[in-house]
Amino acid sequence: MNIDMISEHASPLAALGGADAGGQNVHVGALAVALAQRGHEVTVYTRRDAVDLPDSVPFARGVTVEHVRAGPARPIAKDHLLPYMAEFAARLSRQWLTTPPDIVHAHFWMSGLAALEGGRDHGIPVVQTFHALGSVKRRYQKEADTSPPERIRLEAQVGRDAAAVIATCTDEVGELSAYGIRPGGVFVVPCGVDTERFRPEGPVTRRGDRPRILTIGRLVPRKGVDTIIEALCHVRDVELVVAGGPDRADLHRDAEAVRLRRLAHDRGVAGRVVFTGQVPHEDLPALIRSADVVVSVPWYEPFGIVPIEAMACGVPVVASAVGGHLDTVIDGVTGLHVPPRVPGALAGRLRRLLTDPRLGGYLGAAAAAHARDRYPWSRIAAETEAVYDRVIGPAQDEIVMAGGARS
Ligand code: UDP
Repeated sequence: MNIDMISEHASPLAALGGADAGGQNVHVGALAVALAQRGHEVTVYTRRDAVDLPDSVPFARGVTVEHVRAGPARPIAKDHLLPYMAEFAARLSRQWLTTPPDIVHAHFWMSGLAALEGGRDHGIPVVQTFHALGSVKRRYQKEADTSPPERIRLEAQVGRDAAAVIATCTDEVGELSAYGIRPGGVFVVPCGVDTERFRPEGPVTRRGDRPRILTIGRLVPRKGVDTIIEALCHVRDVELVVAGGPDRADLHRDAEAVRLRRLAHDRGVAGRVVFTGQVPHEDLPALIRSADVVVSVPWYEPFGIVPIEAMACGVPVVASAVGGHLDTVIDGVTGLHVPPRVPGALAGRLRRLLTDPRLGGYLGAAAAAHARDRYPWSRIAAETEAVYDRVIGPAQDEIVMAGGARS
């Protein structure tokens, strides 16, 4: 198949850890590569956010990244990109006039808008993965949600017009049904992990004698790093390493890093908290292996790739019992659950894990086996391909085409 992926704000070529660069970037890049390894040709269309980017970049064998001119060629926060989606769609439409793919896979709601609009006249089926939903974000972030006000309405429309929707966890299925998206068109395919890179064996980042708690992610309030800092007050003699955010040299200019450092200082644990800033993705396995436990306690989480990266490295995970974590972290078997935003509960789990190394060993081994079996990208690509096949296969007598037209 010729597969065109649309990922308006999240380029597989971007550095990770910044406010808008995380799981989606990893997902799109890794899925594209794994699909190419199954013999498909994949082109990823992403917005040009710098003037000096080449139009086209070979990413891997069978995968090309195309930089689309849509709005100013500079970084723009994703919540301000909606006005440029019509231009993005027009460029896709022009491209598809001469080289229509067999299928379009859009990532995030705005990519879905551009894909459906751009494909309207070409009859190309669009598969949609949302990665995050406006309804969930609004529920948790309330007035702090900076999404465009029309997001939820347009997002629901995208879901209804797409030929199929891929939900990355079972929790998302209920949210999609509340949007009025027909359940028969929704398929659950989780995100994956590079099990060659993230594995128990391999180099380990140097560390001191103190047990190490590690958290990794974009530095945004909903990731709950403040909960971990609060919990640290009740777990003696351990260090917390916070990986993610901008470059280490720029942390002092990052509002969330400044807030978290102040909190650590106020709670008297600043001497035990290390902020590394953004860590290159290829350096993460060694850092994860250096940890006794990886903590991921967001308020909500559409999927959460970090917990499965830790699991794949055989390191026990404590994760908030939300969203994708409900599928990936099997409480008491491959990790431990905690309610979100409850530092006392988190401290209790951490003390239990750190005082009983046998428990950590057991959870880590089960986690590594589960990650290797369930989450390799090769398996995720096969499951994604099965959704594409359903959408374009001859067995379907009624397929919802781009733009809502029916074949
Ligand atoms: N990541 C990274 N370096 C960093 C911070 C994050 O490589 O400094 C990667 C991390 O390994 C994971 C992704 O960014 O693959 C974050 O994905 P996740 O699903 O956990 O969170 P999201 O960013 O989607 O909210």
